Amino acid sequence: MAADWVCSAERTVVFTGAGMSTESGIPDFRSPGGIWDRFDPAEFTFQNFMGSEEGRRRYWELGRMVYPVLRGAEPNPGHFAVAKLWQLGRLDCVITQNIDNLHQRAGLPAERVIELHGSAMRARCLDCDRPYDRAQIQDWLEAGVSVPICDPPCGGVIKPRTIMFGEAMPSEETEEAERRSRAADLFIVVGSSLVVYPAAHMPVHAKRAGARLVIVNRTATPQDAEADLLIPGSAAETLAGIAERVHHRVALS
Ligand code: NAD
Ligand code: ZN
Repeated sequence: MAADWVCSAERTVVFTGAGMSTESGIPDFRSPGGIWDRFDPAEFTFQNFMGSEEGRRRYWELGRMVYPVLRGAEPNPGHFAVAKLWQLGRLDCVITQNIDNLHQRAGLPAERVIELHGSAMRARCLDCDRPYDRAQIQDWLEAGVSVPICDPPCGGVIKPRTIMFGEAMPSEETEEAERRSRAADLFIVVGSSLVVYPAAHMPVHAKRAGARLVIVNRTATPQDAEADLLIPGSAAETLAGIAERVHHRVALS
């Protein structure tokens, strides 16, 4: 049924969360064994990062461990399936809460990926705005730098381009995501617990504007009752199945 809807929809938006990337080996936040069993999220806030050198040191200590996991991960069949829908002309855009760059690495053009929570692949100086590649920062961290700062003479605070807990959402991306959610006639949620706001408002915007809502998630979400179709299975398998069927239909038409 989902494939039929993808074929008949004018504007399909795919909205992804951490569950999209667990099959690439990146743990999500809320499943048992996830990152937050080992770290206390209350500590890794924007306020703590901005507030003290010690807050930044702790943040980069976590970042030094997490970045290689993100960088080393490969797109899974679900990411490739979403890119395939784009190639087939059946996808408007992806709105993602993920910071792992895997949609782009699977072949989806960057301008079709709205990153609501930023990207772990980039960093920038908060004083002079100079961009830094996160890989370069990783070299510094591994060489023993505990708090990276901008090159002289600036010396400003370098911050990863992820949206931290307690930090304002990026306004441009949020507005664009809202606009595209309202314009969608098919909205497919994949691997999100739909508890992190304002990201979790996107399916609400879509549904209110009349879109069909499909939720592909292993566990229940607070919006299941609003869904036109619930698929409680694997993100990768489900999306690969949908893309395969859509491909056949397009080839036949
Ligand atoms: P979440 O951890 O709250 O929820 C993930 C959901 O995906 C869960 O409900 C889980 O049951 C489901 N799930 C896990 N694996 C699945 C699979 N293979 N197939 C289908 N469903 C699966 O994630 P969220 O809603 O994205 O919110 C958490 C926040 O975590 C986001 O803000 C995001 O920025 C951040 N995050 C990102 C990454 C990443 O970039 N890969 C990883 C961890 C956390
Ligand atoms: Zn600077």
